Amino acid sequence: MIITDTHTHLYSEAFDEDRDDIITRAIKQGVTRFFIPAIDSTYTESMFQLEKDYPDYVFLMTGLHPTHVKDDYKDELNHVEELLTRKSFYAIGEIGIDLYWDKTTLEIQKKAFKHQIKLAKQYKLPIVIHCRDAFNEIFEVLEEEKSDDLFGVFHCFTGTLEQAHQAISYNMKLGIGGVATFKNGKIDQFLNQIDLSHIVLETDSPYLAPVPFRGKRNESGYIIKVLEKLSYIYNRSEEDIAKITTENSKAIFKI
Ligand SMILES: [Zn+2]
Repeated sequence: MIITDTHTHLYSEAFDEDRDDIITRAIKQGVTRFFIPAIDSTYTESMFQLEKDYPDYVFLMTGLHPTHVKDDYKDELNHVEELLTRKSFYAIGEIGIDLYWDKTTLEIQKKAFKHQIKLAKQYKLPIVIHCRDAFNEIFEVLEEEKSDDLFGVFHCFTGTLEQAHQAISYNMKLGIGGVATFKNGKIDQFLNQIDLSHIVLETDSPYLAPVPFRGKRNESGYIIKVLEKLSYIYNRSEEDIAKITTENSKAIFKI
């Protein structure tokens, strides 16, 4: 069984003490494909190190995270552009809009989001969207930018069934993680109405650990709990879910 974690911050300081153990543990459980979203330039070196240490398992993205869009965002976007000319990446991410932490930066968040969508189109890469308290704003941008060559993942999808259909209409797969295991997570109520061809698995580790680890540090191996939950929701074997979601990830990231 090959399981793909389409969103894991393995370079995070949260793993500095035991990163190798965590990766080894995950691999033993069949989680052998790790897609690594970027945050900002301060993490670039540690992401490269991770890729060097685990070249067969780790696939890097580049991008500027919406909560890190600050006054210096133009420099950060230049950094992303410069990286794209230097080596290949598997996606532009994570990018998007987050109005939970800071509403005052909405305008520059939108600018950075649109700019990075253009880069994705230019380099023919998928985008990985971060959306928090910002469905309307994100959909507004996607409505403007939609095209056949815009595609990707709506990471940590937590919306309604209607919003799920809307995200899918913009060529986005839904990234499903720990929230699907939460009692109040809501998405488990309607997920079986979304065809599995639109779903990819993720942890967002070190954040959003699934039940029974909720509130603790998350790690890629815990994706097994998400797999179990989806197996229950869809009434399909874990092997089937792992296979289909891994195929979906290959279709997006081209690896
Ligand atoms: Zn993330």
